[in-house]
Parts: sequence; structure tokens; C-alpha cells
Amino acid sequence: MKINIIGGGPAGLYFAILMKKSVPSHEIDVYERNGADDTFGWGVVFSGKTLANLRDADTESHSEITRSFEAWDNVDVLHGAEKISIHGNSFSGIARLRLLKILQSRAEQLGVQLHFRTEINDVEALRTSADLLVAADGVNSTVRRHYEDQLKPTLDVRPNRYVWYGSNQLFHGLTLTFRENDAGVFAAHSYKFNKTTSTFIVECDPLTWSAAGFDKLDDKQTRDYLAEVFQQDLRGNPLLSNNSKWIQFLLVKNQRWFFKNAVLLGDALHTAHFSIGSGTKLALEDAIALATCFKQNAQVGDALASFERSRRPVIDDYQAAAFESMLWFENARHYMHLSPIEIAFSLMTRSGRVTYEDLQRRDPRFIDRYEKRLSTDYTD
Ligand SMILES: Cc1cc2nc3c(=O)[nH]c(=O)nc-3n(C[C@H](O)[C@H](O)[C@H](O)COP(=O)(O)OP(=O)(O)OC[C@H]3O[C@@H](n4cnc5c(N)ncnc54)[C@H](O)[C@@H]3O)c2cc1C
Repeated sequence: MKINIIGGGPAGLYFAILMKKSVPSHEIDVYERNGADDTFGWGVVFSGKTLANLRDADTESHSEITRSFEAWDNVDVLHGAEKISIHGNSFSGIARLRLLKILQSRAEQLGVQLHFRTEINDVEALRTSADLLVAADGVNSTVRRHYEDQLKPTLDVRPNRYVWYGSNQLFHGLTLTFRENDAGVFAAHSYKFNKTTSTFIVECDPLTWSAAGFDKLDDKQTRDYLAEVFQQDLRGNPLLSNNSKWIQFLLVKNQRWFFKNAVLLGDALHTAHFSIGSGTKLALEDAIALATCFKQNAQVGDALASFERSRRPVIDDYQAAAFESMLWFENARHYMHLSPIEIAFSLMTRSGRVTYEDLQRRDPRFIDRYEKRLSTDYTD
């Protein structure tokens, strides 16, 4: 089979690996507009469950990934002077660039043709010249735009602003920090992903963003402003930029997932707010799901229909949970009157995927503290 893939991000590379591994005679070309070493972003997060899926799908890349990652079991919530730690969770972080390098070299080792610095504009030519066209071309997918009448995407631009930075301050756990000033409330999502660097994402609502005057501040001024807001957390470390810009989260859904022999994968197909785990996890698991459908179906059309049928309920559930999580952060200012332990409990249960009972099992001491706080409130 001849397979053209647009996009050399996690979704495109991993799908190429799995297909070439399954049938070495497949002719697979991946077209990527950037160079092999260019990347945006900092670290990506995986849960223990995702790592198990990666191990089952390709042990070679899984062992390279786990050799490079930082693991932790705690979520830390900081508000005011207090830090609440919730243990019993399983996460790990790896640099996005390191992940891409591992996937690139595994794909090349298997015989996938990688074409860097190759921007694709003529989508239809790539579709008609192959048995399968995979659109793994990210959140602003050219392919999705090209076939929008057939795929019927819905694009919802959310109100909050966020920016991905790095920091040499190491956050040993998935750390959610809330700081307030005259402008409003700022939330930081941070975690270390190697021995020297953490991801540090700052998010705020539109009122806070306007009151802080970010529309008039350049990159350096913005980083200095936010370093001041998070001074006690960054401990003098500056915020590191990698072409980092304020963006608004784009919620992507598609009524149809494929058109003829062209299929969407990863961020091109769907997005889920970063507060519930990274898009990278979903991109890789999409690749596993699609490759599995090709193992079970000889015809391209059958495989794509099976992919849409079997994967859609999983993505719908994930997007529904991520939506609740996103709403929590969009309304963060309304939770700031709560005590840190109440904020932590509300955060841990925000998506509906983690229950009181789950938390009791994972970290009984946390639930004890929470119950004590509630009973104090009641007797006050
Ligand atoms: C600014 C920013 C920073 C981010 N940082 C992080 C982070 O630190 N951690 C994290 O977990 N997630 C991060 N994310 C989210 C994460 O990148 C995605 O959820 C995940 O990478 C999805 O994988 P993907 O393969 O579907 O898409 P992508 O990783 O976006 O890959 C798509 C690829 O397609 C290429 N492409 C697009 N159009 C064309 C074309 N016409 N021709 C050729 N190539 C094309 C792009 O250059 C890109 O390499 C970030 C997102 C953004 C927007």
C-alpha cells in the first residue's frame, strides 16, 4: 500500500511506524514543513496507562521514551502560602523534541521516508496519488480546511488566553499554581520533563488579560510581568520562551472523520484542553487505533469506517471530560475564595473522571484533611 502522511508530529510519525512495522512492504512518505530539529513547546505528559499502550504497540520506541522521561505520582496545588499534595497518580514527562527525535529515528530505521522542510499545499494531488492520505497536520490542518464541506468541522475558540513557557525551576509533580494581583487570577500548569527544565504554562481569563495590558507588552515584558506574578514559585528563575505567544484554545471536532481515502488524525481531528493531559497522548493513541483497524480490515474504506466507529466514543468521552476541566479554568476566579484543600478537591474531581472514592483509595491522607476542613467549616 502507498501511504502519504502530512505532518511529522507525534500522530503522523507514530502511525507511520506502526504501519511499516506491521507490513514492511508498505511505501510510506511523511511530509513535514519544519526541519527535523525545529519544534515548539516544551515537555509532554503521559499517564501510566498511555505508557502501557505505547509498550504494547512498539516496545522499541517505548523503551527509548521511558529511558528519557521523568516520572512522578503527585499533583500539587498551590494557593496563597499553602501547598496541597495529592499522591497516588501516575504521570511522566518527556521533552517534545526528544520524543520527536525518538519517533523520527525509529521511523527511518523501519524504512519510512521522511521529507522535512516540505510544505504541502496541493492536498488533492497527495490523496489521489496514494491508497491512503493521513492528515496528521495539527490543529490548523490544511487538509481539514480543504475538505471542510465533506468533513464538516466545528471550531470553537475559547475565551481564556494561555502561553507555553519553559523554566529551569524544577516542579516535581504536576503542579497547579494560582496567583492573584490587581489584574485578576493567573493559573500555572507546570511539571519537569528532564533534569533541568520544566514546562510552565500560564493561563488567565480575558478580563485578567486585558487588565494586565498584555496587548501592549512585548515578549520580554510579558515574561517579566509573569515572572513577577509567580515570583515565589519560580524562585528567581526567568521564564524561557520558544517563540511562545498568547493563544486561545481551539476546540476542534469533526462530523466526519474521513473523506474517500483521506483521514484526519491527532489534533487535526480533535483537541482536548491541555489541563487534562496532553494532546500528544491522544495523537499517539489515535495512531494505534487506526493502525489496528488496518490490521483488521483489508480495504481502506472499511478500515477508515471502523476507525471512526470504534474511536469516536472514546474521543467523545475524553472531550467531554476535558470540556469540564477547561470550564473550571475559565471560571477559576470564582473558586479563589475557597481554602487550598477545597480548591485541590474541586480541581481533582473537576472533569468527572476522578471520584471521591478514587481519591480515598489513591491518597487517604488527603481525603482525611479534606473531611477535617469540611467539618471545621460546619462547626465554625
Ligand atoms: C504553541 C503550542 C505549544 C504546545 N506545546 C506543547 C507542550 O509543551 N506539551 C504538550 O504536551 N503539548 C503541547 N502542545 C500540544 C501538542 O503539540 C499537540 O496536542 C500534539 O502535538 C498533537 O500531535 P499531532 O501530531 O496531531 O500534531 P502536531 O504535533 O501539531 O504535528 C502536526 C505537524 O504537521 C506539520 N504540518 C502542518 N501543516 C503542514 C503542511 N501543510 N505541510 C507539511 N507539514 C505540515 C506541522 O509542522 C507539525 O509538525 C502545544 C501546542 C501548541 C499550539
